Amino acid sequence: MPLTTKRPARWSWRTLLPWFVGVLPLVCGLAVMRWQTERELQASSQATAREVVGHIDMILDNLSSAARTLLPKAGEPCDQVQLALRVETTRNAFVRSTSLFDRDTLYCTSLFGDFNEPVDPHDYTDGQLWLMNGNSVTPGHPLLIYRISQGTRGAISTVDGSHLLTALRLIGADSALQVQVGRHWMGSDGVVREGPPPIAASAAVTFSSTRYPFSVHGGYGPNKQAQLMRSRYPALFSLLLVLGVVAGGACRWQIRRATSPRAELQRALEAGEFLPYFQPVVRKGDYHWAGVEVLMRWRHPREGLVRPDLFIPYAEHSGQIVAMTRALMLDTAQALAPHAALLEDGFHIGINITADHCHDLGLLDDCRTFLQHFAPGRVVLTLELTERKLIEPTPVTLELFEKLHEMGVMIALDDFGTGQSSLNYLHQFKVDYLKIDQSFVAMIGGDALSQHILDTIIELSAKLELGLVAEGVETPVQRDYLERHGVDFQQGYLFARPMPADELLLALAARPGSPQLPQDAAPEIMRG
Ligand code: C2E
Ligand code: CA
Ligand code: CA
Repeated sequence: MPLTTKRPARWSWRTLLPWFVGVLPLVCGLAVMRWQTERELQASSQATAREVVGHIDMILDNLSSAARTLLPKAGEPCDQVQLALRVETTRNAFVRSTSLFDRDTLYCTSLFGDFNEPVDPHDYTDGQLWLMNGNSVTPGHPLLIYRISQGTRGAISTVDGSHLLTALRLIGADSALQVQVGRHWMGSDGVVREGPPPIAASAAVTFSSTRYPFSVHGGYGPNKQAQLMRSRYPALFSLLLVLGVVAGGACRWQIRRATSPRAELQRALEAGEFLPYFQPVVRKGDYHWAGVEVLMRWRHPREGLVRPDLFIPYAEHSGQIVAMTRALMLDTAQALAPHAALLEDGFHIGINITADHCHDLGLLDDCRTFLQHFAPGRVVLTLELTERKLIEPTPVTLELFEKLHEMGVMIALDDFGTGQSSLNYLHQFKVDYLKIDQSFVAMIGGDALSQHILDTIIELSAKLELGLVAEGVETPVQRDYLERHGVDFQQGYLFARPMPADELLLALAARPGSPQLPQDAAPEIMRG
């Protein structure tokens, strides 16, 4: 129910909240799943790196054992120790070759016997380990060398890089593992490179050996986490999706229900936000206020004062107009009755009634309750029925209007000239007044056809002896025309606009000859 003529905002909280509520379980669920998988990946990455370190430690134990056995023989002539060097390569599963050096020169190897090659201890991390990309025997083939020394002499043992590769590939098949020794590192592609190794996209860990100077870097590629989430939680993911749709749908339904025109009108009715405004109706000749028409206004907490044409159609559609009119009649009676002395005898009070209100005899009680607030004859209650939506003549409605008439309630046919009431209809419902629709009044002085319709209505009302009220009188030209043609009552901005009860009472009290408002009533009226 749009209460303003402004276009509603496209992205209001009402449209956004259901989306937010719908997405929330998904976002929260994904965050928990992400956290869970992150922890799992971290733990698994740590375990893998630890296992690889353990395996390489075990290989190095092999190399170390061979080198330590040979160390006492360093310095001895090669032909005497060559057999011992070969024995160690056979005895230790991972040892590929062994050598001895003396004063920075490799002088004997298990492979070639006598040898002569410089050895630089600075090539070795902590003087102990060197990961190299191959040597003269197997160039381009990775090799890990273990060195042990005592004084200027020492022993060397080597392991084929493929043993390390097997550990990297088999233990951490789906992770990105690298073994690093000093400045050199090797990944699972088996190439030894220099510089810092790359950091894994997720669950990056570094695990160092406590016994040898090397470390293992582990982790997973960028897609691993999403892959794991997809494979681990497909059911949970679908459940969250369904939950999101249900929660969003429920929220949307609840908002629509709470902000539906029906709920909003009900809330406003209970909060007493519908107020009576009064527009005076003046008598011909002296233009004295002969009565008022009660016009409903909605004092909306956010929108301010709302015009009836913006909400009455919804109230009529939902059937709430009956309760609203009943409350309006009660408010009107309670506002005017204490100051009834300000009203001249037979003061007309016009209430707009819809066809729905006439389906049973309940309207009789509403009118009786209204009139009971006033001394007999002080006010004349006039029910205004619009000609746009005519009441069906049924036995109940005919009985209702019969009884209303007996009670002294008058009937005015509103917006006359815009509908299709017949003479029979006017008679059946005992219509007392015709209210000429303001569109005809607006045409006074205009084209001949409209003026002709107006003149016809005026003549018709005279012939049928019905009272005539012209509404929407805005100019002295219109006023004088209607006066000349004998229209009984006039209503329009020219005389007064619709006003709240306190303003009406103050205006009535200010008329010459009116009884004054009691001293203490004026401030009370001003408060409303
Ligand atoms: P209506 O019954 O024809 O009431 C007359 C309308 O014309 C009022 O508009 C009034 O403010 C306006 N009016 C009066 N003098 C002039 C004038 O000189 N120039 C112009 N341009 N307009 C003038 P309002 O108050 O906005 O009410 C609009 C309609 O809403 C009413 O038309 C009536 O059909 C409906 N309405 C108002 N209150 C109630 C109510 O309590 N119950 C029902 N069922 N309908 C109501
Ligand atoms: Ca009216
Ligand atoms: Ca009207």
